[in-house]
Amino acid sequence: MESRRTLSRVIEAPQAMEGEGVPIRRAFPSHEFSQLDPFLLFDHFGGVTLKPGEAKGFPDHPHRGFETVTYMLAGEFEHRDSFGHHGVLKAGDVQWMTAGSGLVHSETPARSMVENGGRLEGFQIWVNLPKRDKMKAPRYQELNGSNIRTAHSADGKAEVKVIAGSALGVQGGVETHIPIQYLHVRLKAGATFTQDLPATLNGMVYVFEGAVTVEGRKVGKYHVGEISTNGDTVEFAALEDADFLLIAAQPIKEPVARYGPFVMNTAAELQQAFNDYREGKMGTISV
Ligand code: FE
Repeated sequence: MESRRTLSRVIEAPQAMEGEGVPIRRAFPSHEFSQLDPFLLFDHFGGVTLKPGEAKGFPDHPHRGFETVTYMLAGEFEHRDSFGHHGVLKAGDVQWMTAGSGLVHSETPARSMVENGGRLEGFQIWVNLPKRDKMKAPRYQELNGSNIRTAHSADGKAEVKVIAGSALGVQGGVETHIPIQYLHVRLKAGATFTQDLPATLNGMVYVFEGAVTVEGRKVGKYHVGEISTNGDTVEFAALEDADFLLIAAQPIKEPVARYGPFVMNTAAELQQAFNDYREGKMGTISV
């Protein structure tokens, strides 16, 4: 018999500034919520309309040992890295970047956004890599918004963009190192949506429009709900028209040594990452 998972806690994501001054809501890490293995960080950035000259980004910085996943809702970000990779992320697009052994990259608003202003909004999450995959060569998986598969419920009141994993029989397009679900769910007021979520997966919901309940407990706008570890499905009911991300993955259960842009298993590996970066082994960006 299937049993429903509940919420073990609900927390409002604190506001902060990142990079050169990008407003964010950081669901975690915070002093209340450190991480949700294997997820290391969850940022909802922007959600604001910028004036000309106001758009700021994230200048050159390194990463090693994990993945950064960026999902744009509005605006345009341009990215380049120390291996010559360059591209533009537009509204609806996803970039799943495996930093692996390391690279240096920049993430900045596209020139047109800087010049004209406009709405900027999206998500960046950091996903840890198992020890066996931390030193893999860097890799990008880029999904154009129009290629992201979307599932619809029979009554048409639930729409799910399946970025990774599967929902309502639709499979996402990203290859992951461990089982991961990354779903953008849109519900009409009064709709319900049930997702298979085996107890082997840690999960969370982040609401960015409207409000939902899980087994009677409310998750409002800008709140993160951690899903309990018992049961095998989770059901969401929309109190009003709602948009949320449902993110779940199999925990890695390995020691985490993290500092700034590096996430390794031991302090010695962290030191090695700093040394390699300082010695230019992760490269530099030439524009
Ligand atoms: Fe980055």
